[in-house]
Amino acid sequence: MGNKVDFITSAFSTDGYPNHQFPEVAFSGRSNVGKSSLINMVLGRKKVARTSSTPGRTRSINFFNIGDRYCLVDLPGYGYAKVPQKIKDSWNELIDHYLHYRKNLKGLVQIIDARHKPSEEDMMMIDWLKATDIEYIIAATKVDKLKNKDFVKQKKKLPELLGVETDKIVYTSAKDRTGRKQVLGFIDSVI
Ligand code: GDP
Repeated sequence: MGNKVDFITSAFSTDGYPNHQFPEVAFSGRSNVGKSSLINMVLGRKKVARTSSTPGRTRSINFFNIGDRYCLVDLPGYGYAKVPQKIKDSWNELIDHYLHYRKNLKGLVQIIDARHKPSEEDMMMIDWLKATDIEYIIAATKVDKLKNKDFVKQKKKLPELLGVETDKIVYTSAKDRTGRKQVLGFIDSVI
């Protein structure tokens, strides 16, 4: 099922981006939020994206060719507590540069944990997205971990907390594949 997925390259600095014409859809979120799991779930593959429990491998921007249709971009997870500030700064710089200058970037999936209040860094990303022309959705993930009544509560609270319309938020679970179709629909709509 799904498309052919080919790893293109990892960019460790701003001159490492691939040179191609594919529209790019990026996935962003804090470390451990479930970004790799969501990417793998959406693509219907087990091991495309690597988890941030191995942080050394996830400090790059990773580019994947999806069926020669578009390029999926796995941005480094931010907010990883155990790395020195200097390294964090260089990651942030890399993410920042990609988001501001990458012409291929057509859409962004911003991932948050459906159970928690968005972090300060989450809000910075979301506020920045609101002010740009980049199409985006917010994937609130790990919903399988919420009891039904808490899920109902979060669905009420999150649009206001994030300051976005209800339909900007897609509820997802890598465990039971909730939200897969909506994320794929978003990708199709922007590429
Ligand atoms: P990343 O660091 O953002 O790439 O996060 P990972 O995808 O590695 O996920 C971090 C942890 O959360 C792992 O232990 C995953 O198994 C778990 N996880 C991720 N997504 C889900 C989900 O939708 N449901 C549940 N129950 N666990 C999840």
